Amino acid sequence: MTVNNSPAIVWFRRDMRLYDHAALRAACDTGRPVIPVFILDDITENLGAAPKWRLGLALEHFSKSLRRKGSKLILRKGPAIRVLRELISETGASSVYWTRLYDPDSIARDTSVKTMLGDIPVEARSFPGHVMFEPWTVETGKGSYFKVFTPFWNAVRQRSDDVRLLAAPGQIPGPDEWPQSDDLGNWNMGRTMNRGADIVRSHVRLGEEAAQARLDEFVGDTIERYKVRRDFPSEGATSGLSENLSLGEISPNRCWAAARRLAEEGFSGAETFQKELVWREFAWHLIYHTPHIVRDNWREDWDGFPWRTDDQASDVMAWKQGRTGIPLVDAGMRELYVTGRMHNRVRMIAASYLTKHMLCHWKIGMNWFAETLIDWDPASNAMGWQWVAGSGPDAAPYFRIFNPVTQAERFDPDERYICRWIAERQSNPPDTALEFFDAIPRSWNLSPSDPYPDPIIGLKEGRDRALQAYENRDF
Ligand code: FAD
Repeated sequence: MTVNNSPAIVWFRRDMRLYDHAALRAACDTGRPVIPVFILDDITENLGAAPKWRLGLALEHFSKSLRRKGSKLILRKGPAIRVLRELISETGASSVYWTRLYDPDSIARDTSVKTMLGDIPVEARSFPGHVMFEPWTVETGKGSYFKVFTPFWNAVRQRSDDVRLLAAPGQIPGPDEWPQSDDLGNWNMGRTMNRGADIVRSHVRLGEEAAQARLDEFVGDTIERYKVRRDFPSEGATSGLSENLSLGEISPNRCWAAARRLAEEGFSGAETFQKELVWREFAWHLIYHTPHIVRDNWREDWDGFPWRTDDQASDVMAWKQGRTGIPLVDAGMRELYVTGRMHNRVRMIAASYLTKHMLCHWKIGMNWFAETLIDWDPASNAMGWQWVAGSGPDAAPYFRIFNPVTQAERFDPDERYICRWIAERQSNPPDTALEFFDAIPRSWNLSPSDPYPDPIIGLKEGRDRALQAYENRDF
């Protein structure tokens, strides 16, 4: 009997972890050499500046984790089909394993890869792990997909038994001879980060261990006040895990399992946290079943709405630069620029201000977030924007317009969050507020000694204009 000792390739994409990684586990279980690979293809090449830069950090970190396991991350550039075909011919690999993704671009790429591998033939296997409940496994009573969150939540909340964790492999067996790898430095993943990357870097918590520490801190301390305080942006009452979840530095299973234990002990915050994790699942459910969510109004009847579309208009630039004159909106936009993330409530308020008071197309905001967020996620970003704008599934009704002043009174009553991020209104601003001016491109020509701007549009005027457009809509 001949022993098959041909390598198994594990193709990493948004799953930069060793623990709870079904594809890696399966490759190790073959007992054959394992070759971990990351491919800089068009999808990754075309990422926005911040997510691409953050991915570069993740790759560097993950390479080190693999090295500690006696393995190595092979980096290659080019179309996935070509790169994998070349690697198979160079190494004699007879299997390629990966974790499934559900956005339209990834599905198109992975389908063509699977066909190519079948033609060779080489074993092609994809595994779950990016979400807990794969999109086609959650169905309404009528066998359709869910368009509304609450029934989706009710359908999955009892499925904890589906959520199982896989141990990380011990040592990962490698081939006798490693294929050539590109040098990550030559990829220069940060080259489009036209902002103070060192400042954003100081807010990053990188890699699997940091993600686990984040989860431990959250469940050990913060989760108790999560249910009541998570909407207060100055309080740090959320997990911060989106940064790690978006690149798979931690699995959603692992977050769910930690919360489940506490939910069983009666911590109400734990169930609220599970529910938020399920919002992420819902986003992937929607992007899978209705891929146009990333491109077009999810509700076609919004196509005639008179959104403004000039993403360089002076008031749009003011929004991007945190200079609308509306403190809570500006604080959020500056938090985003400095840290690469923004508190969820403030995301909703900043998005509402852009799409309603300013009457701008949600795509302007979606694209700006895709450029600047380090936790960018194609599904949650598209769903979040369309939800706020009113054009999405289960969306906030258009006529419900967040008033950023009353929102600030309610969720930032002592202005701690606003003061953290806006320097111009203070005689002695904190470092966080000043960091913004070191993080921005010089071409913005902004200084903390500039006067704080007047509102670019009166809140009542903007609200009335938005409601008028909504009432006149041609639906
Ligand atoms: P926690 O409150 O600790 O929640 C735990 C996890 O649940 C999060 O890490 C996230 O994975 C998930 N989650 C929580 N809220 C949501 C939500 N509303 N939608 C989907 N998943 C959620 N999230 C992203 O990860 N990437 C994005 O690109 C993104 N873009 C958004 C754009 C807009 C306009 C809006 C309104 C929301 C967007 N969100 C996005 C969702 C949400 O704001 C972030 O997930 C959240 O702020 C992350 O902080 P956290 O990890 O501390 O969340």
